[in-house]
Amino acid sequence: MMAADRTPGWNGELRYDEPMAAHCSWRTGGSARYFYTPVDVDDLCAFLAELDADEPLLWLGLGSNLLVRDGGFPGTAIATFGALSMTEWLAGDILRAGSGVTCSKVARMTAKAGFTGLEFLAGIPGTVGGALAMNAGAFGGETWSRVVAVETVDRQGVLHNRHPAGYRIGYRNVQGPANEWFVAAHFQPGQGDVQAAQEHIRELLARRNKTQPTQQYSCGSVFRNPPGDHAARLIESAGLKGATVGGAQVSEKHANFIINTGAASAADIERLINQVQGVVEQQYSIRLEPEVRLVGDHPAGSDHE
Ligand SMILES: Cc1cc2nc3c(=O)[nH]c(=O)nc-3n(C[C@H](O)[C@H](O)[C@H](O)COP(=O)(O)OP(=O)(O)OC[C@H]3O[C@@H](n4cnc5c(N)ncnc54)[C@H](O)[C@@H]3O)c2cc1C
Repeated sequence: MMAADRTPGWNGELRYDEPMAAHCSWRTGGSARYFYTPVDVDDLCAFLAELDADEPLLWLGLGSNLLVRDGGFPGTAIATFGALSMTEWLAGDILRAGSGVTCSKVARMTAKAGFTGLEFLAGIPGTVGGALAMNAGAFGGETWSRVVAVETVDRQGVLHNRHPAGYRIGYRNVQGPANEWFVAAHFQPGQGDVQAAQEHIRELLARRNKTQPTQQYSCGSVFRNPPGDHAARLIESAGLKGATVGGAQVSEKHANFIINTGAASAADIERLINQVQGVVEQQYSIRLEPEVRLVGDHPAGSDHE
């Protein structure tokens, strides 16, 4: 991963063979060969500067949209949650939030300060970095609609300030400069009213709890909605609610959620994803594309190879 014959210039925590089930909301999956939690942004830069140029990297927020295959990730996972946690108000109405800050904190902070437009983030159980990478959205709101700038870091540990115009932003899809990752976002919400924004958050959370299995291990919606339709509607009408593979099950409450009922392996979940894709395609000639990110290796000798 990096030269072992000199004192490192970084001070964060480096773990070996770290089980990713502990860091992903599906609570399953293989291990990352290395797992680094930086002290802060400068420390992250120092770590990246010393990394081998070909070391595979996995950027990790709260793992709420991520499945690490059972054979693990053959590289270094970089944790932002609990590390890049800075928040500050710039120019009075722009919130700068580190990529490890939770989405719910951004929603609560902006609402409490009397701004509106980011309430939808309240129920998204990820970080700012994950929300930027996914253009996370809900109830008509989308992350990038309120972003006025981002701070990024590259492979060499050099920081950049970027304007949203430098990114191609779509539905759960964001493309920007290659080999750069998010360190912070600058959000500019609209002028609002504290009580109304806080009430809006309560309303959205209640709607979520009513329609989603929020108390079970999942990654939220597994598939993107195809144009003009809803993945959940297609999965439900294909008769797949409740379908299982090992410990993975299509949720009875929301058909676009796959839940880990307790002992699901990543392979169980991936097989169920493939099964749902296959059945929906056969019945409706629509290919559902996963929104969740699948990374890492299948175990050696598995029939996935
Ligand atoms: C119960 C539940 C409900 C959900 N509801 C919604 C919803 O309403 N709307 C929605 O959009 N999503 C929803 N999700 C999915 C998920 O919460 C979002 O996609 C969220 O934005 C992921 O954030 P994260 O920090 O957990 O990212 P992770 O899962 O850790 O990572 C997701 C992707 O982002 C990349 N990434 C993470 N941090 C960075 C960074 N700093 N720089 C560059 N890339 C990075 C990762 O490498 C990975 O490819 C839900 C999930 C659950 C479990």
